[in-house]
Amino acid sequence: MRASRHSHAQALLEALAQPGCPICRLGARAVARALESLAYEQVTDPAVQARFAAALGLCASHGRQLLNRTSSGQGVAILYRAVIAAALRRLEQVSAEPAGGLLSLVRGRRADGPAPGLAALSPDAPCPACQVEADAEQRAAQVLLEQLSHPDARSAYERSPGLCLPHLRLALTLARPRQRPAAALLLAHAASILRGLDQELAEYVRKHDYRFQHEPYGAERDAPARALTRFVGERGEC
Ligand SMILES: [Zn+2]
Ligand SMILES: [Zn+2]
Repeated sequence: MRASRHSHAQALLEALAQPGCPICRLGARAVARALESLAYEQVTDPAVQARFAAALGLCASHGRQLLNRTSSGQGVAILYRAVIAAALRRLEQVSAEPAGGLLSLVRGRRADGPAPGLAALSPDAPCPACQVEADAEQRAAQVLLEQLSHPDARSAYERSPGLCLPHLRLALTLARPRQRPAAALLLAHAASILRGLDQELAEYVRKHDYRFQHEPYGAERDAPARALTRFVGERGEC
């Protein structure tokens, strides 16, 4: 337990030295590892298949990530046979709806959502990779809050790009009363990063003006992308 805590702290410190939000980075790493073992080891595990079936497969972004992995076809084939079996059971369930079946369900659709009988076609569980990611992000946020009581980690954080807004919200939500100084540091750091980013954007806009177009872009070259990412996280989802 202690070793695992140590390794989480180590992973966080390493992520702080890298570009981008450290919690996004640790979440993405956990997903990459989970997809790796999914594609090659766990596909025949009945519990894994049941989770996949309940979720009706992966979300769009993690599904594409799995497909983009080399030689994952066999794993995808096995997992999606389980998903298809679940989907077929659900289709039968919808077809067997009383009072006219599917057609009456569709006609009876209200503007505020799908007909109740179509609930069988919705996932019963979140995307398994999203779940892995959310768990890893929550753990990373808790480790960050703990580590910020150590001077070394504090200065590593102050030098880092800090958290994206979704993960700043997550960390502040998880902060306990005794972690108030850590929460204050996160807020002050976020404000300072945003001010710096705003200046870079102003510079970017200025150089876009035809009068200054001869001036080459400097570090502000990718400021629009960094600004956007700051508000949605590295994966583009919150
Ligand atoms: Zn993030
Ligand atoms: Zn997902």
